[in-house]
Parts: sequence; C-alpha cells; structure tokens
Amino acid sequence: MQAHILIVEDEPAIRDMIAYALRTQSYQPICAQDGKEALQAVAERIPDLILLDWMLPGTTGIELVRRFRKEANTRDVPIIMLTAKGEESDRITGFDSGADDYVVKPFSARELLARIKAVLRRSRETEDDGSIQAGPLRLDGRQQKLLVHGQGVHVGPTEYRLLHFFMSHAGRVYTRNQLLDFVWGGGSDIEDRTVDVHVRRLRKVLEPFRLESMIETVRGSGYRFTDAAPKA
Ligand code: CA
Repeated sequence: MQAHILIVEDEPAIRDMIAYALRTQSYQPICAQDGKEALQAVAERIPDLILLDWMLPGTTGIELVRRFRKEANTRDVPIIMLTAKGEESDRITGFDSGADDYVVKPFSARELLARIKAVLRRSRETEDDGSIQAGPLRLDGRQQKLLVHGQGVHVGPTEYRLLHFFMSHAGRVYTRNQLLDFVWGGGSDIEDRTVDVHVRRLRKVLEPFRLESMIETVRGSGYRFTDAAPKA
C-alpha cells in the first residue's frame, strides 16, 4: 500500500523538492506549510510518516512533535525532523520530544529517501498487537513475553519495555537521558544510572544465548541495539 507522508515545511522550494522525490518512490505526499495546516491534515487522515521542519512560523516543529506524541491517534506515527546544520542541541531536544530521526539541511533527496525507508521499515516491523521481531529475538505483544529462538525467556517489565524500544529503533545511538525519556517517560526523576542497571539485566537475560552484544555500549554517548545477531 502507498505510504502517505505528511511534509510540514514553510519553505516552498524544499517542500516541493521533497514532494517530488516522494512521488518518484510512489509515496503519497501531503503538504502543510505550518503547524495549523499540519494539524488539519492529520485530522483528515493519519499519515504513515511525518517530515517535520524544525523552524516553522507560529507553532514550532518541536511543539508539534510534543503534540503528536501526546495524542493517541498520532502517538505511534514516525517523525523525521528536518533541521538546519549546526543545531546539535536542537537535535537532541528533538529526540527528547519524541522524533524518531532527523535529517540535516541541506540534504539530498537520496539521503532523505533512505531515512524514510528505514523509519517506515522499523515502524512496520512492529505488529498491531505490539509484537516485534529482531533477529532471533521476538517480543510477543499480547503475552508481554520475550522469545529467544522461539523459546520463552523471563524478562522483567522494565527490561521488556527497554528491549521493545531498542528493537523498534535498531541501529541508532540513544543517550541515557533519551532512553529515560522514551522508556520511563519524560519528567521522571530517575537517575541516568538506572538505565545502566536495566541494560545490564537485559544483557544477563541474553547472555545464555550469547546475544548480549546486540546491545552495544557506545563510549561517551549511550547505547545502540543492533538487529544483526552476532555470529556464533
Ligand atoms: Ca523553516
């Protein structure tokens, strides 16, 4: 089925370039030039993905991300932020507010399309009941159970949520703060070290299967999940 992609961008040249690029890949672009139009478009139809410009007149991109993440019908729609070069701290804020990925301007159509493809693939891997598969790991959403090579393995509720986040965001590095925000919920008073504790527990669960290295420590940054199972 054709994916509907909402482009929220106030610069007509960029908006048109993106819409054109999307059509070449048989995506269905929907254009909005500000937050108001974006909300209207979403009310008419929930898109499969949202491309969101950081700097918008009126409601900023970041406010929109927060809003989309709060509403039940847009909570799970993947969002890619379009940011200007050098807005490093903004990008982090974008992640903290719930964006799935970002692309730095100026970007090529090819680069953007590659990101879109990756984000859509990840979101499709999550089945309707919340089940997700990554290599030999499977989380059964209905039973809230972890299966490794089809075998049920006990995992605590926090580890389950953490693993679910990792599996649905494979290949990207997340800081401890971002993980706290995404997995524990924003505004919680939990310390960074909590993340390390739960990552350690999760690795222990995976150790007997020699899969603990699927959760990588990225020095100075945080953690990354790789969905390619390590070679035995
Ligand atoms: Ca702009």
